[in-house]
Amino acid sequence: MRRSAALLSATVLLLAATACSERTPGSSAPVPAAPAAAGSAPPVSPAPPAPASVQANELGSIPVLMYHQLSDHPASVYDRTPADFRAELERLARENYVPITAAQLTSGRIDIPAGAHAVVLTFDDSTNSQVHLDPKGDPTPDSALGILLDVSKAHPSFPARATFFVNSSPFSTSGSDKALGWLVKHGFEVGNHTLHHSNLATLDAAGVQEAIASEQAEITKAVPGTPVQSLALPYGVMPKPGSLAVHGSVNGVAYQHRGVYLVGSNPAPSPFDASFDPTAIPRIRSEAATGSEAEFGSTVWLDRLAKNPAGRYTSAGDPDHVTFPEAQAAHLAESLRSRARPY
Ligand SMILES: [Zn+2]
Repeated sequence: MRRSAALLSATVLLLAATACSERTPGSSAPVPAAPAAAGSAPPVSPAPPAPASVQANELGSIPVLMYHQLSDHPASVYDRTPADFRAELERLARENYVPITAAQLTSGRIDIPAGAHAVVLTFDDSTNSQVHLDPKGDPTPDSALGILLDVSKAHPSFPARATFFVNSSPFSTSGSDKALGWLVKHGFEVGNHTLHHSNLATLDAAGVQEAIASEQAEITKAVPGTPVQSLALPYGVMPKPGSLAVHGSVNGVAYQHRGVYLVGSNPAPSPFDASFDPTAIPRIRSEAATGSEAEFGSTVWLDRLAKNPAGRYTSAGDPDHVTFPEAQAAHLAESLRSRARPY
């Protein structure tokens, strides 16, 4: 379904960080801490440089990229070839993006070096092309995970971090429990995408909670103790009421998400921006510069962000504070005033 030009201008406005009153990470209900991030993250300098020297703007927008399936013969706009996927990761590394997980985004724990830009890599539908383990239990080089690890190895500033939003029996060719265990053990985030990929708007309240809680139970059965902090809505469709995507309980299984992810078509506001709404976080589909709805896809958006560097999240290398140019001060979430470091 095509989206209107009005939506495009709305997204451009969003990129310029329009302010309005929404929830901030500080207002979210407490959730257990996320597991350690994957890969060896580049060390944050104990003495960050002057913010102006790296044009720090921690109120800038963050692309949350969405991947589905890798295929040599893409059958839909949701598929990418392994070569295209690798090229996009190489581009991100070259343009000084550093991946964070979805849980890091919503918690505001953005531990990336000064001058780096945050990006969130998300994978939906737990397809076999995303995670595939060889008989020894290592990721195969042709899987999305294998490619991400390889790019990270070639670019030490680009840690292999991502969030996998999974359904029932994820990555089944590798053995679901084994695959989930590998991901969690290596610091990747496993998020919920409902048990059977349900359109949540078609279910009643009990059905919505069942679809979400039963998938969470599957994840925590495979990897005991794993907090499930993030939910990606199948088809980007919100249940009614929307609060059922955030918290609920059925058959003794309670869920509480820090972040709810849409399909979307634009970068997410910074989690420190007053307009950030953790219950409806937009994402960008990975896509070439041409093709159906390419104007909402990753290549076009990464081009736009490169042309408008001031609108993009750029770290000051000081995760204890929120650093931004003085002119952006009106966009800061009220609850973060005590951490503000305008310059
Ligand atoms: Zn999906």
